[in-house]
Amino acid sequence: MPRTPLIAGNWKMVLDHQQGTLLVQKLDWTLKDAKHDYSAVEVAVLPSHTSLRTVQTLIEGDKLSVRLGAQDVSEHDSGAYTGEVSAAQLAKLGVAYVAVGHSERRQYHGETDAVVRAKTAKALAGGIVPIVCVGEPLEVRKAEQHVEHTVGQVTQALTGLTAEQVAGLVLAYEPVWAIGTGEVATPEDAQEVCSALRSAVAEQFDQTTADAVRILYGGSVKPANIASIMKQPDVDGALVGGASTDAGDFAAIVRFR
Ligand code: PEP
Repeated sequence: MPRTPLIAGNWKMVLDHQQGTLLVQKLDWTLKDAKHDYSAVEVAVLPSHTSLRTVQTLIEGDKLSVRLGAQDVSEHDSGAYTGEVSAAQLAKLGVAYVAVGHSERRQYHGETDAVVRAKTAKALAGGIVPIVCVGEPLEVRKAEQHVEHTVGQVTQALTGLTAEQVAGLVLAYEPVWAIGTGEVATPEDAQEVCSALRSAVAEQFDQTTADAVRILYGGSVKPANIASIMKQPDVDGALVGGASTDAGDFAAIVRFR
């Protein structure tokens, strides 16, 4: 079965709930004007936790086809974890996707592969599709260890899951040196790693699972480079940071064809 492309916008800590609402409204108007087929290209936004309720109300009230995502989830179920937000709390807000293991969480919050694995499992148990982010820092790329590095991160994150769970989740290859830098990996760079990740899933699980799992590219995606990235056979979409906070740019990325 063909994999439906997913374009997900990670707003990071940039937009407040009012700006987020405005952006989703503008995005939906623009896509409807362009007769965007949401069943052919799925669109998701990942606001800050503080904006989830407002954006959910808009999406549900106006019956928009934009899916709601979150930027992080707790590795715990419930209890005395000040500042944390659980998968159950996110699910109750209609959150369909959650990013786990984003390089900014790994870098600034010390998230290890074990934490990423725990968060991935919690998201799945809560009925939320995890977008498991992996990617190599510049020194690893320079040492030509990027494939081993990212395959290792994916293998760790998926350990203990069933093939069925893995088939339904999303991986995102985001080279750290390309995030927010304007430095984009070439389409061939993206394909090399996305293809290696798919093969790793086939090895860890089976080919059917590998054929089903969606793999996104992320790192300075813009309207000008999305088409060539999406032409790569193992790239099933994009995780977009900076450019997703502008409705016009994000709509242009969604309409990459
Ligand atoms: C991201 O934060 O996931 C990302 C890819 O950021 P940017 O598009 O700004 O590089």
